[in-house]
Amino acid sequence: MRKYPVISEKELYGELKRYFGFSKFKANQLEVVQALLGGSDAFVSMPTGGGKSLCYQLTGLLLEGLTVVVSPLIALMQDQVSAAQELGLAAAFLNSSMNEKEIRGVYRRLHAGEIKLLYISPERFSSDQFRLRLKEFDPVLCVIDEAHCISEWGHDFRPDYLALSLIRSEFPGCLIAAFTATATRTVQQDIQTKLKMKNPFVVRASFDRPELFYRVSPKQSVLDQILAFVQDRPGKAGIIYRSKRADVEATSDFLRTHGVNALPYHAGLPDKTRLTHQERFVRDEADVIVATIAFGMGIDKSNVRFVVHGDLPKSLEAYYQETGRAGRDGLLSHCLLLYSPGDIRTQRYFIDQIEDEEEAARGRRNLDTMLRYAQASECRRTLLLGHFDEEHTGGCGRCDVCTDEASTEDLSVDAQKLLSAIARTGERFGGGHIIDIVKGGDTEKIRERGHDTLPTFGVGKGKPKKHWQQVLNDLLNRGALQQNGGRYPTLSMTESGRDILFGREAFQVVRRAQQAILIKKSSKEEYDLELFERLREKRLELSREKGIAPYMVFSDASLEEMAREIPRDRPAFLQISGVGRKKMKQYGTLFLELIDGYAREKGFTESRPDVR
Ligand code: ADP
Ligand code: ZN
Repeated sequence: MRKYPVISEKELYGELKRYFGFSKFKANQLEVVQALLGGSDAFVSMPTGGGKSLCYQLTGLLLEGLTVVVSPLIALMQDQVSAAQELGLAAAFLNSSMNEKEIRGVYRRLHAGEIKLLYISPERFSSDQFRLRLKEFDPVLCVIDEAHCISEWGHDFRPDYLALSLIRSEFPGCLIAAFTATATRTVQQDIQTKLKMKNPFVVRASFDRPELFYRVSPKQSVLDQILAFVQDRPGKAGIIYRSKRADVEATSDFLRTHGVNALPYHAGLPDKTRLTHQERFVRDEADVIVATIAFGMGIDKSNVRFVVHGDLPKSLEAYYQETGRAGRDGLLSHCLLLYSPGDIRTQRYFIDQIEDEEEAARGRRNLDTMLRYAQASECRRTLLLGHFDEEHTGGCGRCDVCTDEASTEDLSVDAQKLLSAIARTGERFGGGHIIDIVKGGDTEKIRERGHDTLPTFGVGKGKPKKHWQQVLNDLLNRGALQQNGGRYPTLSMTESGRDILFGREAFQVVRRAQQAILIKKSSKEEYDLELFERLREKRLELSREKGIAPYMVFSDASLEEMAREIPRDRPAFLQISGVGRKKMKQYGTLFLELIDGYAREKGFTESRPDVR
């Protein structure tokens, strides 16, 4: 029988500060660490940003012997290991990107007992030869990251993961800990069974991400909308998802021509380009990445401040995953979905092409839940969490439905004007022409077809073109009109459109005033912006020197705290969340000098001036 160390809670807090620089555990972290240290398997489902890695890193540090971490993305392993080393943890990785010499080096250090945390890919584990060698080191804990990949029921099944079923039989003395950010109960059961876990300690944390603000806006001129959104957040990091490669390229080009430092990412780019783009984004050298959904799994960049979807995601689960990449550091971040009825038609079309009946049915169900979310008139958070079987009473204060002022407008008469023009021209024209008729425009097309003699000609003169465009969009959104494909799409009426035209149904729309987001800032959120910028520059400089990502030096949250507390001496600096022993040693002096210089320049006398 293996002996597990007895470590008091107080000691755990001590280690937490010493290595990670934090003075408090996040929800469930302490319990998971204690369970593992007590010799129990663990299944942990926590949202992105919940702090999963700390759970196993701290445990691995304290257990006697080697901890193996299985992680699916080779490209990220280097980052994970660098981040761990930055904290002063003895971490290394083994994967197919390494040459013989590097691999031998790692084995040498393993033999010397110099490695506590060994990161490997699942395919490495599936090699018989590797497992044989691993036995020599008698690992005490095996951590499975992104554990849902082992389940065919999950959304990201990887056959390589199945080999992990061998852990229990081949390493009987080894504890197993599974971590995931997306497990339904079915997937959870499947993970536990496949890994042959013994009565594990189970955590199913709340999936709420209070730091994320959710908004859905009608998609009109998508590139302009994206640009405006990005320009509102200068210098902030964000991900923009588009579903087609061509749109990824177009969006990224458009942003670049408007001075935004954006890069594209999609499966059509050469591997090397993709990797460089990802790296530049992770290292704060590019602000915005425009990507297909192929981007982001496992990206640990903690300061992503916004995620925009320019097209409708395939499922609410995928949407939650993708937006979840924002705000890992716990700071307010924004999620915007641009939604137009045109997207529904495209997706229905693709679903109809699917031959497998079951798969098609799943596609339709997913689309329906996605639509319920996009068209919701209740709190978005209630719907999102409801999807994960979690109750939320609404009124979250961090979604458009909860914060925007809404008013209902009766647009029946205006709608009838448009619908009538559509009906009288035989439902054969596009929106532009219909609006010209209603506005009484003098165009060749109108004269040629005699549309200036229609009774609806010029009935809408008094209102601007933009208004009519809006009403037309509202009618499309409501499903009163449908757009028929082709190069020059035409508009035709649906049943509901006829009901409105003939006055059998009123046409009311809810208008939300898009407010600048009015979240009351707690005093905690106020900090010296100029100092923050200087700290950021320093961080970038240091990270470049070391060839690591800036967030590995300090998180945005730590920099904000420095810019709020303005620490002037070592004890004060050590109080900052995220400053542990190694960070203090490596960066303490440099940052303290910067902060002190800044404080003198501004004539601050005490360490904590009123920054307001
Ligand atoms: P996950 O793997 O669950 O997505 P991470 O392990 O990447 O989450 O942690 C998310 C962020 O939270 C990181 O920036 C990490 O430094 C921070 N964090 C983790 N634990 C704590 C803690 N106890 N106190 C403060 N911040 C924490
Ligand atoms: Zn809400």
